Amino acid sequence: MKQRLIAAVDGQRERLGGVARAIHAHPELRFEERFAAGLLADELEAAGLTVTRGAHGLETALRAEIGPRTGPSVAILAEYDALPEIGHACGHNLIATGALGAMLALAKVEHDLPGRVVFLGTPAEEGGGGKIRLLEAGAFAGLDAAMMFHPFDRSVLWQGALAMQRVDFIFHGRPSHAAAAPWEGDSALRGVIQLFNLIDSARVHLRDGARIHGIITDGGQAVNIIPERASAAFSVRAEAASYLESVLMPMVLRCAEAAASATNTRVEIQLGQGYKDMRNNHPLARRFGEHLAALGVPFVEHDPTSGLGSTDMGDVSHAVPAIHPYLAICDTGAAMCHQHAFAEHAASDRGLAVAVAAAKAMALTAFDVISDGDLRSEAHRAFAP
Ligand SMILES: [Zn+2]
Repeated sequence: MKQRLIAAVDGQRERLGGVARAIHAHPELRFEERFAAGLLADELEAAGLTVTRGAHGLETALRAEIGPRTGPSVAILAEYDALPEIGHACGHNLIATGALGAMLALAKVEHDLPGRVVFLGTPAEEGGGGKIRLLEAGAFAGLDAAMMFHPFDRSVLWQGALAMQRVDFIFHGRPSHAAAAPWEGDSALRGVIQLFNLIDSARVHLRDGARIHGIITDGGQAVNIIPERASAAFSVRAEAASYLESVLMPMVLRCAEAAASATNTRVEIQLGQGYKDMRNNHPLARRFGEHLAALGVPFVEHDPTSGLGSTDMGDVSHAVPAIHPYLAICDTGAAMCHQHAFAEHAASDRGLAVAVAAAKAMALTAFDVISDGDLRSEAHRAFAP
């Protein structure tokens, strides 16, 4: 079976390369991934699979299933959204390609599958929380495991991900002529600036791993008007969701209220998407690593020197045993996710080769999940809180 799956991925190399390059050349923002979702659905249908487009009520989500309806089940996840301005600088085109390659290989051996394999196209990882909507819609119900891989500058079986909360602050002040009658106004921009200052002054108290970072999304209306409205968007992150919720967020909200109070403005607070921290399932990750090693891909289990981001896979990992291994598409330190250079690596021959290796390791690991009861038990034991 192992050799059949590997050969099946190798047989699709050309096709997978074409998909990776095409999605890379058509970067689409969260929830707008019509080209990528359409292309993946076309490829799955061309291989004889039945695809639900617009699955679980999300226009750019996909679902396809193979294998028996009863028995164990595993999901392979494809992300395919891009970033504003910098395109596929997170390499999600390769995530989609790896998932597609794994699914096409498993479809070739469909009649010998002892359980169900689900391909899930999951939109809007970049700030949209597509997987959270899919979770709420029941897309992960009854699954024994969920897996994906992510491109990176090093290969690591498990790396945490920070719990994260998005929040927008809109300050409302009083406009006035900025030269003729500034005393008649209250600057909303001052509220935003004080918000940044207060948060910066609180950094001395933060626990390790906490991250609070924002941008000014509206700095005022015209230079000769005391700004009536100004706004900022923040991400607040921590290693543990409990610390984020009970300490960091209340502190940030107090800073906003204090900034408004000091500047005689009013602040409107809009909570956005939150992501949970990532609970990597070590038995499943180690099995993925065994397959990687057999394929000749070097990796480490964990790299404490590497920084952490956030992902909606965190929420999935709190619902089912899940893995989110990282694979190097460039040399360590050569480029990092969300940089222009990383987008170039995501379309490179090395990047494509990594997606092919990921497809093999995921196909093999997915097969193990549905065929190896001991692995499933171990994964479930590790998952139990
Ligand atoms: Zn990403």
